[in-house]
Amino acid sequence: MDYEAFFTSHLGRLRDEGRYRVFAELERIVGAFPRARFHREGLPPREVTVWCSNDYLAMGQHPAVVEAMQAAIGAQGSGAGGTRNISGTNTLHNALERELAQLHRKQAALVFTSGYVANETTLQTLGAMLPGCELYSDAFNHASMIAGIRHSGAVRKIFRHNDVRHLEELLAAADPATPKIVAFESVYSMDGDISPINEICEVAHRYRALTYLDEVHAVGMYGDRGGGVAERDGALDKVDIVQATLAKAFGVVGGYIASTAATVDFVRSCGSGFIFTTSLPPAIAAAALASVRLVSSQPELRVRHQERAATLKRRLAAAGLPVMPSVTHIVPVFVGDAALCKQASDLLMDRHAIYVQPINYPTVPRGTERLRLTPTPLHGDTEIAHLVEALQDVWQTLGLARASKAAAE
Ligand SMILES: *Cc1c(COP(=O)(O)O)cnc(C)c1O
Repeated sequence: MDYEAFFTSHLGRLRDEGRYRVFAELERIVGAFPRARFHREGLPPREVTVWCSNDYLAMGQHPAVVEAMQAAIGAQGSGAGGTRNISGTNTLHNALERELAQLHRKQAALVFTSGYVANETTLQTLGAMLPGCELYSDAFNHASMIAGIRHSGAVRKIFRHNDVRHLEELLAAADPATPKIVAFESVYSMDGDISPINEICEVAHRYRALTYLDEVHAVGMYGDRGGGVAERDGALDKVDIVQATLAKAFGVVGGYIASTAATVDFVRSCGSGFIFTTSLPPAIAAAALASVRLVSSQPELRVRHQERAATLKRRLAAAGLPVMPSVTHIVPVFVGDAALCKQASDLLMDRHAIYVQPINYPTVPRGTERLRLTPTPLHGDTEIAHLVEALQDVWQTLGLARASKAAAE
């Protein structure tokens, strides 16, 4: 086999379809969020405004978070020193897990190296070890959940996105005695819609299934203490296992689950992706802990965040731009074509010093390519006005569809 030719021709196909991924090289600037320096070969660095960061609350550069990380590095050094089992369990990991358990009102929590690993490991472990387990998965679930479900080897049943009735049909048709897990998300990150957590949990429990909820795009941002949409909707105790990340609203890195003591202990004891990897550096745990404490104690941050998102949606709609319906802080703008989506992103950068990456297949279905805007509490009115003006120019230049047409599709 000519391996090089195989790789090259596959990449060529990605390019032809306009979905070859080009990473923008950024240098973040503490104190200037959402500004960053954009680097490109052969050109001097250029300051741009970032409109697509998942550092949703700008906690990644918050002085208290940065200081906590610096202090822990000074005190304990860079790495953790091993897997959790081999000298890698730190006082800071345990403190962080206690804090996260409290945030979700659960008995225990378990930290992983990322949210992806938390999903993959937990679902794979449960699906493989619960005898005859069936996994019920929302059609729009994240790749990390799909990976865990696939690797578990369990029977997989997909219910239509947020369709409680379809879920119930599938559950009703199954053997009542088999173990079941219903896996879904609270905020879906590409459309910005929210699942009916209470209804899904009620149906799942009626058929004796466990509920597994990914709150990656909600934790820190919804609920009085930032405990996610489950907290906002009074559903914390209906979610058997909650999973989330320390990398998005908390601005650091790492993932976790929270559940009963026995569930968490089971995954801790049997989850390969937890056991056989070096634990997060103590400084990461310190920064995450500082961030979780700060974010959960500051509801005004969540109020400001939602206000910014509402203002941006209003301004985009007023300008006739095809902002897609979203009930969250995620603001998708419809393009509907992979190549045009990439061009729109390039034009925003080249002409307007605005960075928004194109969202193409397979992240979203073909024909629904979009720009996905994520306003934070630190995006001011000036930045919003600049963005709306820039988008109007790009829409004009590329002849992209305006609001009414996109809404009809
Ligand atoms: C980003 C994401 C993850 C993975 O979290 P990381 O901490 O970035 O690995 C899991 N689920 C969803 C829905 C995500 O968007």
